[in-house]
Amino acid sequence: MKFDDLTLAPSLLKALHEEGYATPTPIQAKAIPPALEGKDVLGIAQTGTGKTAAFSLPTLHRLSTQSAVAGIKGPRALVLAPTRELAAQIGESFNAYGRHTGLRTAVIFGGVGQGPQVQAIRNGAAILVATPGRLIDLMDQKLVDLRGIQFFTLDEADRMLDMGFIEPIRRIAKAVPQKRQTMLFSATMPTEIRGLANSLLSHAVEVSVTPAATTVERIAQSVYSIERGRKVDLLAHLLRDPAAKRVVVFTKTKHGADKVVRRLRAAGIASDAIHGNKAQNQRTRTLDGFRSGRTPVLVATDIAARGLDVDGITHVFNFDLPMEPEAYVHRIGRTARAGASGVAITFCDDEERGLLKQVEKLTKAVIERKQVPVDLVALPKPAGKSGPTHATTGGGSHARGGHAGGHGGGSGRGGKKRGGRGGKPSGQHGGHHGGSHGGGSTSSKPAHAGGGDAALASASGKPAPARHNWPGYRGPTRRGR
Ligand code: AMP
Repeated sequence: MKFDDLTLAPSLLKALHEEGYATPTPIQAKAIPPALEGKDVLGIAQTGTGKTAAFSLPTLHRLSTQSAVAGIKGPRALVLAPTRELAAQIGESFNAYGRHTGLRTAVIFGGVGQGPQVQAIRNGAAILVATPGRLIDLMDQKLVDLRGIQFFTLDEADRMLDMGFIEPIRRIAKAVPQKRQTMLFSATMPTEIRGLANSLLSHAVEVSVTPAATTVERIAQSVYSIERGRKVDLLAHLLRDPAAKRVVVFTKTKHGADKVVRRLRAAGIASDAIHGNKAQNQRTRTLDGFRSGRTPVLVATDIAARGLDVDGITHVFNFDLPMEPEAYVHRIGRTARAGASGVAITFCDDEERGLLKQVEKLTKAVIERKQVPVDLVALPKPAGKSGPTHATTGGGSHARGGHAGGHGGGSGRGGKKRGGRGGKPSGQHGGHHGGSHGGGSTSSKPAHAGGGDAALASASGKPAPARHNWPGYRGPTRRGR
């Protein structure tokens, strides 16, 4: 089946062509036809299956072919999502697929000022994508009118339940007209979600896909046994692989994420951290940099990475093993999206052996063991920051004391200034949704942002290495172990 076979509005087919999507994913092939007929849909699908388009395309189609509720000005479609990142991404999808429809989308979520979001609604957004908490806030202030809603979608319902949003959802559902089309998507279907679905949907068509296993099968997984203190050295070493174009590194803690970024930047590897301590505008900037390829390495904690949907992630590194084995599957599923393949590399220290066993039990597979290269070299320590507390064992005794300082924390960011800002909370921007799929074709390399190289001249006073070499890397022949 092709998108062209579905009876979608020409403006949507045009946008899909531009996105480079010709074939619907299984969840899209199953959910779009009944949704186009106006039926309620209960979808069981995880992130990565293409579920966002499965509900946004029929919503856009019906919005452009049906008239609004007479006499009501407010939004006509409401999508609820658990997190601000997911809400922003759904908004981008609506903007991308709906770019030739003239329909506007407003995205509202907490943690940022409500002014621009309220303005986006007032400017006549037909589609409102919201996290439940902020929507309730605006409803209480009478700043949003839901009486014109004709299409109501709940995305990642199970996560909304986990996050305690069930009551807000019920309140919101009461404020939405009874006469409407409803879609509910969830990765899992526990009894509470089934109950919620029964109360919100009527005569729903149930569609499901089970991607977990197939996704995992397309990912080349491996694990290195390595002591804690040398993980960052190994990470930098593996990031030299030119295939590692867009990389997510998972750490256990926020502090750990910041520390990895400091060390990588000091080595001239453009990277940025995303975690709960960062302000919303900082997170948006970080994600923009990652999406655009300007910052090819994103270091994240599990919570911060929830809902993260970036195309073309080539590598996932488990710098630390997750405390919950299920999180391993979620983490590595960031790569191998929409049919692409991916690489997942795990670092396991002595204390993490038990966690690794749990992962292997859950995935019913033994992950391939790889050997740490014998010539692995210790990274230079960032100047001006207190270095890691552990003893770096790396290349034994070679002196790093004289490491030239002078590069700030931002040395890895390259010289380019940001252009206009994307990812606005109120989501009127066209979005840079899509991008290169499956490894992509851009040649941005994780290593090097140029600026730091001079500062990274080795302690021996040698000039900075050539661009294609990893800064500070002395080469296997120089000083073996
Ligand atoms: P989702 O499950 O909605 O988070 O989508 C996962 C990823 O697949 C997103 O990055 C989409 O841009 C991409 N995608 C969605 N539909 C298609 C399609 N039919 N063909 C190729 N990629 C798609």
